[in-house]
Order: sequence, then structure tokens, then C-alpha cells
Amino acid sequence: MIVVRTVDDLRQRIRSARSTASKIGFVPTMGFLHEGHLSLVDAARSAGADYIVVSIFVNPTQFGPREDFASYPRDEDRDRRLLEERGADLLFAPDVATMYPEGSRTTVRVAGVSEPLEGARRPGHFDGVSTVVAKLLNMVTPDLAVFGQKDAQQCAVIRRMVLDLELPLQLLFAPTIREKDGLAMSSRNWYLSENERVLAPALHRALLAGAEVLGSGAADAAVAENMMVLTLEEWPGVTLDYLAVVDPETFLPPEDLHRPLVVVGAVRIGTTRLIDNIPLPRGFTKEQGKDNPLQTATA
Ligand code: AMP
Repeated sequence: MIVVRTVDDLRQRIRSARSTASKIGFVPTMGFLHEGHLSLVDAARSAGADYIVVSIFVNPTQFGPREDFASYPRDEDRDRRLLEERGADLLFAPDVATMYPEGSRTTVRVAGVSEPLEGARRPGHFDGVSTVVAKLLNMVTPDLAVFGQKDAQQCAVIRRMVLDLELPLQLLFAPTIREKDGLAMSSRNWYLSENERVLAPALHRALLAGAEVLGSGAADAAVAENMMVLTLEEWPGVTLDYLAVVDPETFLPPEDLHRPLVVVGAVRIGTTRLIDNIPLPRGFTKEQGKDNPLQTATA
């Protein structure tokens, strides 16, 4: 695996890769990789990518002033080994001055879907995400870019941005990879103490309870939302931020429960903030057998 740190080197490598590769796949990350990230490399390959680029960049513009930019976990040597084992072809690991040279003034802002829920609680977060992703997509020029469903609202923001800017690439959103107890894998899980880690599956349990209510034919999203809150209350030590049923495109309350939905949530355990979600296809019911998202979500 080749490691490059400048935009010129990246462009040169991509140009020569194009002489043999027919589909360049791209997986943007902030590093400290886990199986969730690595599954995106597999997903790119399964979707036909024959040259896979991964970026590692802890993007300062998507962190609020009181958030964890400085303490965000980093281990590039380990990440490199994992990516090499997984068969990534190129790692792009720029520094902050490379991504935001002196004088940078442009922000990409996706109105609407970037505003509720995560957007309301983390002002500027999605502006940072859409700006850095737009820049990375322009640098790498992939045919396919892969993102994790784990960050459902981020997926919706990026989908909207790619449509609005007519970016010529295919998007793939890959399923959330979980620990055995249901906790969605995340670099931030590393912050949890042993005692906090025991509480961490609470969020997924609450989301499952909400999904189950919807799958039983609830007439109103509020019934599912109440069930999620009640479930979370069984876990003292876990602080509710939000639990909601939303439309997966707008992240607003759904107009119709028979369309695709996503149950989303955020909690705090000590100083660690965790987010998670379960997407529910159109007309989802509890009895959908092996395609039931409640079953895949607990696998
Ligand atoms: P991050 O390094 O947290 O910015 O994540 C980089 C990419 O990996 C994003 O597209 C995330 O949605 C995705 N990702 C993070 N955790 C998971 C997970 N547990 N399962 C699948 N994808 C994930």
C-alpha cells in the first residue's frame, strides 16, 4: 500500500492507477480504524472497485470548540497495518495545512438535512463534514465512495451534496458493524471506562425497542419514541440526548410511517457521546424473516 500526504502526489498516483484500474473506490475516515471502517474497504471491493483509496484525516472543522479534536484517538502505524492486510491500495494521510492551506475561505453547506438532530446539537459539524468530503472527493476523483450507515444523518447530508453539486460518482452506504452486545463500533468507544462500556449497549437496545413498536404497526411515531425513552430509562448512568423516528432523507419527523424510516439516537455516558440508528425499509414489519433489520441489527 502506498502512503501519500500531498495533493500533487495523490493526483499523480490516481492518474497512473487509472491506466489499469477501471473503478476507483474511496473510503474517507478519521483513522483509529476498527472493523466498521475496514468493512467499508470490503464493501468497495464487493461493489467492483479495483483500486481502493482510504483517507485518514481528523478534520478540525467538524469539531466544535468544546469537542474532542485534540484528544481524538490516533494511531497511524496500526491503521496502516490494518489497511494493508485488508488490501487497500493507497492511503492518503494529509495534514491540516494540506487540507486547509492559508487563505482557505470556502465552506460547503447543505441546507435542510444538516440542521435537525446532530446538526442542532453540534453547530457547524455538518458544514465541516460536507466541506472536507467535497474537497476529498475532488482530490481523489473516485468512481465510488463508501460511507457507513452508522452515521445516518451524515449519509443523508452527503447524498444531498453529491446530488446538488452533480458530483460524478456512485455512493454506497454500508451497514453498521456492531460488537457482540449490539454496541455500534466507533473510535469513540475507546473513551469508555470498563464500567461505562457495560452501559453502552443501552442505546442500541432502545433503538431496537422503538423499531419493534414500529414493526408492530404503531399508528404514531410518538409511541415508538416513548418506548425508546422508557427503555433507556432502565439504564441509569446513560443520559438521553435524543431518540427519534425520522425520514431518512430529511431527518425530520416522518409524514408517513409506511415509507422508509430510521430510528436514531444519541446518548452520553460520562463524557462520551454515542450515536446510533436502525434503518427500517418501507412497510417494515416485525415478521419479515431473515431480512428483518431487527435480526441483522442484533447479529
Ligand atoms: P469516522 O472515522 O468515524 O469518520 O468514520 C469513517 C467512516 O466509517 C464513516 O463513513 C463512518 O460512517 C464509517 N463507520 C464508522 N463506524 C462504523 C461502523 N460501526 N460500521 C460501519 N461503518 C462505520
